[in-house]
Amino acid sequence: MKKILVANRGEIALRIMKTAKKMGIKTVAIYSTADRESPHVTYADEAICIGEPPSNQSYLLGDKIIEFAKKLHVDAIHPGYGFLSENAEFAEQVEANNIVFIGPKSESIRIMGSKLAAKEAVKHYNIPMVPGTKDAITDIKEAELIAEKIGFPILIKASAGGGGKGMRIVQNKHELEVQMKRAISEAKNAFGDGSVFIEKYIASPRHIEIQILADTLGHTVHLFERDCSIQRRHQKVIEEAPSAILTPSLRDKMGDAAIKVAKACNYIGAGTVEFLLDDNDKFYFLEMNTRLQVEHPVTELITGLDLVELQIKIARGEALHLVQAHLEILGHAMELRIYAEDPLNDFLPSIGKLDVYKLPEGKNIRVDNGINEGADVPIYYDPMLAKLIAYGKTREEAIENMLEAIHDYKIEGISTTLSFGKFVFQNAAFQEGNFDTNFVNIYYSKDVLKIQA
Ligand code: ADP
Repeated sequence: MKKILVANRGEIALRIMKTAKKMGIKTVAIYSTADRESPHVTYADEAICIGEPPSNQSYLLGDKIIEFAKKLHVDAIHPGYGFLSENAEFAEQVEANNIVFIGPKSESIRIMGSKLAAKEAVKHYNIPMVPGTKDAITDIKEAELIAEKIGFPILIKASAGGGGKGMRIVQNKHELEVQMKRAISEAKNAFGDGSVFIEKYIASPRHIEIQILADTLGHTVHLFERDCSIQRRHQKVIEEAPSAILTPSLRDKMGDAAIKVAKACNYIGAGTVEFLLDDNDKFYFLEMNTRLQVEHPVTELITGLDLVELQIKIARGEALHLVQAHLEILGHAMELRIYAEDPLNDFLPSIGKLDVYKLPEGKNIRVDNGINEGADVPIYYDPMLAKLIAYGKTREEAIENMLEAIHDYKIEGISTTLSFGKFVFQNAAFQEGNFDTNFVNIYYSKDVLKIQA
């Protein structure tokens, strides 16, 4: 593997290229006209303009990306996250053109891309699942029966949903019919698939996910958990590893379950198995993400491993030389996603120019950055500019280092989630590890932030 095309932009494109460079592999960037000056373009050995700013005219043009890859004699394509990373047809097309897709086989992507197919695939593996329906549901009477059996509130979820979208909480029987109709039509519009199913709504869960790695020779290990319970609208904003509350025995159980999920879909590469944890000890399988996650750096900091390097090695057919019993958690890591959003104004997108942009430094700080001082924040893409990651020997130390880094991070010209991060890391409940996915709704209000400022 001598040359990799990174079919992505921003921080993740740059992060992948840095590992490729370290491994002596040449890199090709693709970019839209809005990203001409972006760091991922200047960093790459070669760069090629793929089209206009909207993603469907650039970063989502699978055929064009493959055509460019062939023209530039690329050996492999890394899809990053988002865009085409979980598009089974794209993975298939890449391989059909004799280019290595750095990720799992299209079949695994297809199964795990549907929450219902995923549940079906793992049903013989004794994996705990949230009570609910196993198949798509359309009949209201049937839905009523199930809802009454498991008890309200329930959640109606789109099988093809993602990014925290396509979920509706139903509090009682009277709301059920209206909400189900809405959920089906929304799912059709947003994901092109109207299949919905029912899950019991777990009132105060933690989101715990397990990083797994599987090579082509059948060896699979897990790299422990990440706690991603600090969410806004079911989307992660702060992640940490390890979780403040997992016992070693629960960690082992969840790790084993994650490995079984990976085996159930013949998984190859790096992947993440997501669970909800209820009452600190009951866990339920939610879904599997068949790609590198945004929050993978916290796992890298506590294991000393480079997940992109391992992805590339696995894609080259090499054996994983990791032994589960020898893997260790070394310290604690936290990640804050820096979004161009205004925490004082309902997290609305903040558009404009990065007049001042200075990254914090320090040996316990890592910034996975995708933008330069002076740049305009493009309005076409996910508004995440960078990820701030802090390490410490203990959880307390990681939080301390994070707060210092937030203080040293200088951003002027636009609003970002830095101030929101400061609020969370200073919060007593967070510091005590005492929180669930409702944290933001319970504790955060812009007034608190204003007083703090
Ligand atoms: P997506 O694919 O959109 O990310 P997930 O199924 O992974 O959807 O869930 C995202 C988040 O939504 C979870 O981390 C959790 O906060 C919430 N959630 C999902 N299912 C449930 C449930 N059954 N009960 C309570 N919260 C849930």
